[in-house]
Amino acid sequence: PTVSPFLEPGLHTKPRSLAILQLSRDNLLPIYLQEASGEHDGYAEGAVVNTRYGSFPHSTMLNVPWGSQIRASKVDTGSRGRKRKRGPKDEASRDDAEENQPETTDNNTNATEATGVKQAVADDSGFIHVLPPTPELWTQSLPHRTQVVYTPDYSYILHRIRARPGSTIIEAGAGSGSFTHASVRAVYNGYPSSAEDRKGKVFSFEYHEERYHKMKKELTDHNLDGLVHLTHRDVYNGGFLIDGKSPEADAIFLDLPKPWEALPHLSRRKPQTEAKEGEEWTSPLNPKRAVHICTFSPCIEQVTRTVSAMRRLGWVDIDMVEIANRKLHTIRDRVGLHYQTDRGVNVSPHDVEEALERLTEIEERVREQAARPRGGEDGAEDADTAMKNGDDAAKKDGDKTSTAEQPPYQTPWVDGRLITKGEPEIKTHTSYLVFAVLPREWTEEDEAAAFAKYPCGK
Ligand code: SAM
Repeated sequence: PTVSPFLEPGLHTKPRSLAILQLSRDNLLPIYLQEASGEHDGYAEGAVVNTRYGSFPHSTMLNVPWGSQIRASKVDTGSRGRKRKRGPKDEASRDDAEENQPETTDNNTNATEATGVKQAVADDSGFIHVLPPTPELWTQSLPHRTQVVYTPDYSYILHRIRARPGSTIIEAGAGSGSFTHASVRAVYNGYPSSAEDRKGKVFSFEYHEERYHKMKKELTDHNLDGLVHLTHRDVYNGGFLIDGKSPEADAIFLDLPKPWEALPHLSRRKPQTEAKEGEEWTSPLNPKRAVHICTFSPCIEQVTRTVSAMRRLGWVDIDMVEIANRKLHTIRDRVGLHYQTDRGVNVSPHDVEEALERLTEIEERVREQAARPRGGEDGAEDADTAMKNGDDAAKKDGDKTSTAEQPPYQTPWVDGRLITKGEPEIKTHTSYLVFAVLPREWTEEDEAAAFAKYPCGK
């Protein structure tokens, strides 16, 4: 299959590929790039993305390196109601238009409405960037169908449940697919050649029918079909087997309102509460590995019930973590006006007037010093006198005369102090993460096999 752009985006944008347009720092727009065939939206250029930063025909975003800056174009907005086909003439004028692109654009301003313009031509009003899809960008831009798991949480979760290339993960519910995209990248180890192929895979479950269908389509659009196996099921009642067979999961992530109702299905043996006497029972877990789980619950009451169920079902190393993600802003204080006084004290002026006064003073001193005879006896004498007078500034000047490279004063335009500030106190609680491990079972047969392989003491 074509490799998912989330896993191997290549170097350039491609037709029909998902791209994430960065309109401004936190404003991301996912689109599927379309080739201009004259059939799109009535625009001569093919499909066009209209934003407050200007209009961007898909044709200007195709076959460019990922990360490219795309400038706004004046497009044939006159054709919005009257479809116009793209022809060879359009091709030629499109090239002209490209030549007319401005060298640089400074900032994103509102697009100028273009009327009566036949083709996409460079417009100096704004720009965007075209970025390759990543789970992080997808999380920020995906269509929300539910609450989603965000990057600070899922990066920690995937690390704790030991997701790595080749792992098999069970996930429920799929919701909006935010965690799904991150987890499939974590376990990706090439596309499995068959259903039995045990290359890294995510087995995802969702019981809400509409969400299931939307997610299914998304997975197909993102070329993730062979890597994410999505099942429409209520896991509290139906468990996690696929056509009666075990997915042999190494790791589990439950983002469900009642994880404790799903846990009995995630045992190694038939739990007492489950299935009738004599009925065969298959575990969905990998029998050869310790299995790592994470459950994601917003309320502490859910955590208590989950932990209690885990203890009863033999899970060990149970602990809970809350991720309190805070952005740190690092800035320079009073950029460009921080200076050292004559006595070597670092000072930042408090207002513009003071700053100007200081600058004039410093400039005067620098001028004076430049006019003074350099080196030799004079300089030494200067420094001598200055030291006798206890004049620190003059002492500096004297030093300068003896070691020519040192500037007399710290340059007045050096950057200000580095200051790092946290965000103001804001509620960042998303959910409580409960982690646990279910050790692998060790049978008499396992012991015999291990002993046969590594006989010790004999
Ligand atoms: N982790 C997802 C993400 O990052 O986008 C969000 C999951 S959302 C909060 C919870 C989902 O679990 C919902 O879509 C809901 O329909 C589904 N769900 C709830 N109970 C379920 C059950 N018993 N079986 C399967 N899915 C269930």
